Amino acid sequence: MTLLSIAHLSKSFDGVQAVDDVTFDLEAGQLLALIGPNGAGKSTCFNMINGQLRPTSGAIRLDGHDIVGMRPRDIWRRGVGRTFQIAATFNSMTVLENVQMALLSQERRVYSLFGRVVSWKEDEAMALLDLVGMAGHAQRSCAVLAYGDVKRVELAIALANRPKLLLMDEPTAGMAPQERNALMALTARLAKERNIGVLFTEHSMDVVFSHADRLIVLARGRLIAQGDAETIRNDPRVREVYLGTGASFAPRAVLGTGASS
Ligand code: ADP
Ligand code: MG
Repeated sequence: MTLLSIAHLSKSFDGVQAVDDVTFDLEAGQLLALIGPNGAGKSTCFNMINGQLRPTSGAIRLDGHDIVGMRPRDIWRRGVGRTFQIAATFNSMTVLENVQMALLSQERRVYSLFGRVVSWKEDEAMALLDLVGMAGHAQRSCAVLAYGDVKRVELAIALANRPKLLLMDEPTAGMAPQERNALMALTARLAKERNIGVLFTEHSMDVVFSHADRLIVLARGRLIAQGDAETIRNDPRVREVYLGTGASFAPRAVLGTGASS
């Protein structure tokens, strides 16, 4: 069965049609890039899928169940994980403690914290940190981590929930090109190994074309193209939206400002 099925999804804000009749599918194990200029409606799509925003109309099916109207927490419980959602306490704990916390909340356990987190789930948390290449940093405070390392910890935290679907809205914003590629290569490998569907946005076309299995392109809320990298690269409407008529994508073209909206 299709993991995520979006049908005729729309959202308007006081007359602004942020997302306009968007339809697409995402299969398990697939990396789907959602691209488009700033203001195209990408974040609005993400926020409807994770339950933060209620669509004006349309359906969002996860494993065949319509999740429109469900609370974000319940959507998360159904296996929709996301990065870019750091807890307020993130910086006050170590790398390992943050992943342990995520594993504990995944089990919906009631616990209280007195001082440091106890050793529950330590092996499992270490295994996740190993997966994202952060085992060597387990005992460090998250407050002192480099930016790219915070992103890896975020990924481990998201994986603690055993997501079926991972939503990543500009996961590499603010990262250097090499770090962007490393994070998305890691995400692609995990998606395949664990059969997770990943929907992500990314400004660097280089990164998108290297790692996405498929792309969908939004412009002013409308889906204007979808397909593999080759199809998108050669699509005249996509070229027009990004670069004016006829030009091809520059190898390292960075789209938009990189600012998250
Ligand atoms: P993207 O993530 O592709 O840059 P967004 O989804 O953030 O685009 O925004 C799409 C459009 O919807 C923009 O015109 C934006 O100004 C508008 N918009 C987004 N969120 C809101 C909101 N909460 N209230 C009003 N307008 C919004
Ligand atoms: Mg956005």
